[in-house]
Amino acid sequence: MKHFDSGKRQINLLVAAPRGFCAGVDRAIKIVELAIEKYGPPVYVRHEIVHNRYVVDELKKLGAIFVEELDEVPDGVPVVFSAHGVPKAVPHKAEERGLEYLDATCPLVSKVHRQAERQVEAGRHIIFVGHANHPEVIGTFGQVEEGQMTLVETMDDVHNLAPTNPDELAFLTQTTLSVDDTRAIVEELQARFPNIVGPKGEDICYATSNRQDAVKKIAADSELVLVIGAPNSSNSLRLVEVAEREGSASHLIQRADEIDLAWLDGVETLGLTAGASAPEILVREVILKLEENFEVTQTKVKTTDEKMIFKLPRGLEAV
Ligand code: SF4
Repeated sequence: MKHFDSGKRQINLLVAAPRGFCAGVDRAIKIVELAIEKYGPPVYVRHEIVHNRYVVDELKKLGAIFVEELDEVPDGVPVVFSAHGVPKAVPHKAEERGLEYLDATCPLVSKVHRQAERQVEAGRHIIFVGHANHPEVIGTFGQVEEGQMTLVETMDDVHNLAPTNPDELAFLTQTTLSVDDTRAIVEELQARFPNIVGPKGEDICYATSNRQDAVKKIAADSELVLVIGAPNSSNSLRLVEVAEREGSASHLIQRADEIDLAWLDGVETLGLTAGASAPEILVREVILKLEENFEVTQTKVKTTDEKMIFKLPRGLEAV
């Protein structure tokens, strides 16, 4: 192994691109910032606006107050709904209370919500592929009446399905799933229920699939891949799994100080990426920590360009 005069060991760092913020996260954070500018602090936010502690703490400094339920929002102050989407009952309740609200639901999640409504209107029962208790799943289930949607998480769940009318089914998926696992589950659904209807492929969003493609590429050449993201961030957890399946070890970290340098013993090529809710400043922080300890040769591994931008809600563009 090469050593330079600095006495530090050399390490090759492959940095995935795309990584980090997606258009939906970017929009959601801007909505909170602009709401604070427009209404003045405090602005309440129902649930973490995106699953990242750093982002939440920065917004708190500007005057955002994070709560889990609408009941915790006092009368007369504006409230923002998180990027993951909310059950229909939440805006209804806000309206009943006369609360001003801003919906930061990612437009790609809203698209799934509309599809759910349309399928139920067409008389179909929905099989939803997703992770139990994730806020996006709770929000999507909350678009239809109870009993109109069934959750499947695994292949076993698909095998155990016993729908009343197997010819009147539709499927939809969470936006931040593993592309490979979901493809297999959808294929199994289509094999079991040949008349099931659904989106072409699935509803996994562009950002999730692009970040999984990019991490696959770096993982193939790395002994270890670090994924910056929160433990409750679905798309970040999937990046760790994808890297591991490519044969690399992988760790999820929230900040640079969580890196255990012993992980890097014997590692010559290290991969680095970040989930869709992790800001670039945290990537730079990790690179800095690596540079303090190693002679780092950095290579950007780009698999695609992303140009997606989502419009802000009406009333906020002109702030
Ligand atoms: S990960 Fe995808 S669905 Fe989620 S906020 Fe980003 S673009 Fe939207």
